[in-house]
Amino acid sequence: MAALTDIGTMRDILTRHGFSFSKALGQNFLVNPSVCPRMAEACHPDIDGPFAVLEIGPGLGVLTKELSRVAQKVITVELDDRLLPVLDETLADCDNVTVIHGDAMKLDLASLLKEHAGDLPVVVCANLPYYITSPILMNLLESRLPIHCITVLVQKEAAQRLCAAPGTRECGSVTLAVNYFAEAEILFPVSRGSFLPAPKVDSSVIRLRLRQEPPCTVRDEALLFRLIHAAFGQRRKTLANSLCGAGYQKPQVTEAIAAAGLSPTARAEELTMAQFAALAESFL
Ligand code: SAM
Repeated sequence: MAALTDIGTMRDILTRHGFSFSKALGQNFLVNPSVCPRMAEACHPDIDGPFAVLEIGPGLGVLTKELSRVAQKVITVELDDRLLPVLDETLADCDNVTVIHGDAMKLDLASLLKEHAGDLPVVVCANLPYYITSPILMNLLESRLPIHCITVLVQKEAAQRLCAAPGTRECGSVTLAVNYFAEAEILFPVSRGSFLPAPKVDSSVIRLRLRQEPPCTVRDEALLFRLIHAAFGQRRKTLANSLCGAGYQKPQVTEAIAAAGLSPTARAEELTMAQFAALAESFL
């Protein structure tokens, strides 16, 4: 079969299966032939032996095919049932791929990995549907799945935010949440013309290498994330006003900010992870 990134081949498959793109499911399929091999190569740093890959949203299977070349097992989750017969055809020669029909946000991924990856080290590699980039990443990180690394194609702005250094202007609550679990880096840009249909914005491939230990220690992790979320809820306001606006009592906020050694006029985006950790500790 000709390469799946070939537009003629892709259109032929889509027409034969009567498939039309769903904007709601973030269906922008890769047609740039160099992106998938680069992602497949980059997705397993520090793993020398066999490994398994979890992919979310295979689409026509263009990245899945490349992953099946480098991994011992590929488990790929697709929500759109119209793509299942397409994948039967495009992945017919990939014996090490298991296609699961379901919603990656709702499936029990831990059981899925246990069943299909066994004891193999697991990495995630995907061209994520844009409408759920952050929820999927947070779900993967917070559920503490046995994952070594997450390599994903996301919108350029999302990439910049996810990989920003804490304490800088590009930083948001998701930056700090990601930073708590992983070391994030932008690997390479992908132009909007690399997709069919072409989205309105450019993209980037990012890689999150999961940490063995978080960068700071807190007694109440859930409180840390609630505070981060509240602080960035109204990012133009001062930290004190944002926290009060989120329902925390003013005397407690004032006292905790002082006890953490922070300025009452500081803004969320100026704070490092260690400073948020100190704030969370002084709230207890
Ligand atoms: N991997 C393919 C590629 O690179 O050409 C397709 C990527 S496309 C950006 C996103 C894919 O995710 C689509 O196939 C879409 O149907 C699927 N998808 C959307 N929401 C999903 C969900 N909640 N769970 C699993 N797959 C989903």
